Amino acid sequence: MKNEIETETLASESLSVRDKKHLWHPLTQHKLHPEMLGIVSAKGAVLYDENGKEYIDGIASWYTSAYGHCNEYITEKVYAQMQKLDQVVFSGFTHEPAIELSEELIKLLPENQEKLFFSDNGSTATEIGIKMALQFHFNQGRKRKTMLAFEEGFHGDTFGAMSVSGLSVYNGPFAEFFIDVERVDVPTDENIEAVLSKLEKRLQQNDIAGFIYEPLVQGAAAMKMHTADNLNRILKLLKKHGVLTIADEVMTGFGKTGKPFASEYIETKPDVICMSKALTAGLVPMAITSCSQEVYNAFYSDDMAKGLFHGHTYTANPLACTAAIAGLELLQSEEIQVGIKRIIGSHQKFNTRIKNHPKVARTRQCGIIFALDLNVKMERYGNLRDQMFKHFMDNGVFLRPLGSTIYISAPYVITDGQLQKIYTTIEDLLNSI
Ligand SMILES: *Cc1c(COP(=O)(O)O)cnc(C)c1O
Repeated sequence: MKNEIETETLASESLSVRDKKHLWHPLTQHKLHPEMLGIVSAKGAVLYDENGKEYIDGIASWYTSAYGHCNEYITEKVYAQMQKLDQVVFSGFTHEPAIELSEELIKLLPENQEKLFFSDNGSTATEIGIKMALQFHFNQGRKRKTMLAFEEGFHGDTFGAMSVSGLSVYNGPFAEFFIDVERVDVPTDENIEAVLSKLEKRLQQNDIAGFIYEPLVQGAAAMKMHTADNLNRILKLLKKHGVLTIADEVMTGFGKTGKPFASEYIETKPDVICMSKALTAGLVPMAITSCSQEVYNAFYSDDMAKGLFHGHTYTANPLACTAAIAGLELLQSEEIQVGIKRIIGSHQKFNTRIKNHPKVARTRQCGIIFALDLNVKMERYGNLRDQMFKHFMDNGVFLRPLGSTIYISAPYVITDGQLQKIYTTIEDLLNSI
């Protein structure tokens, strides 16, 4: 009886109030930020909160919902799969959705990619990439124990992924447990020769196992961009010295840069590619680490111990595979390809309009990702940043500024009207600070 009454009163309270009782949110200091916004539904590029207010999802819910929220093409396919095969162990068993996904994805990936290893999220995808690199050398009797990674890279929150991430402001308690990592400066036209000669010298010790990098755009570093040419020169040098290259395409994958994968713009192809986020179109979590035949062969042996002994319970979940197959179909559809081109053109026009604004330090764009830096100093999660976030939300636009950088990475189905609304909300902000 008591429970019933309690449940009733609870149900009449708002989501934001009920949330506070038992929930612990990611990347949140609850004492400073106690309020969570209750979201009840989403459709296309729009989120609806519990009071009926709408927000344009300007970052596709952390780059996942590329084809729009609650996309019926995807939900119907997954619903059908759900009634047929929901989950089965992927060690010793296989199934149609995983096989079909492998066939379709391999067609889209750079030519040298041959094998897919499944896991659950971006962090596990990179963790597996790192383990592949370390064991690739170990299996062949080579002592290569150090990883290379770009300054300010972000590769996730598990230990290996955290270790290679350069953005470690909040990693303090764990820093002494990290794996061996050395940093490479992100190349620019000014520093590229220096970066190459420093690397060349360092590589003489023959102890570097792998290099993990976000190709073309470093997402969490506030959409920092580098050129395909400069990155290519680094990759070429590393390959020459037997370093395994791992492209972390968790954010850039599935059309963000204008092509299915950022690695397509770069002549030297990676040995390993990490994918997640838009892989399953924002429906359910899943990740894939793909690799070349050469990498796979280093694990293929009569010796059990040379296998990759890594396995997650939900490996290649049939529902997630089905969502991914539907996502790949959409990505290659006329409608989505037109949408991507339309967004690219629209951002270019906005850029011309805004790049000389006195409050704008610089702008940059890669595919559908657009970013602008304010020429105002501020902390990554400081007060002004919070005010900007509030301005966007008050105006019905969901953007998450990173320090003084405002960026857009919207679903490909966003309408022209919704895009214009994002632009004018940004312009209003610029005119008010
Ligand atoms: C988000 C992200 C990750 C981590 O993915 P999770 O699913 O959050 O664990 C790794 N690498 C890049 C480039 C990312 O953007």
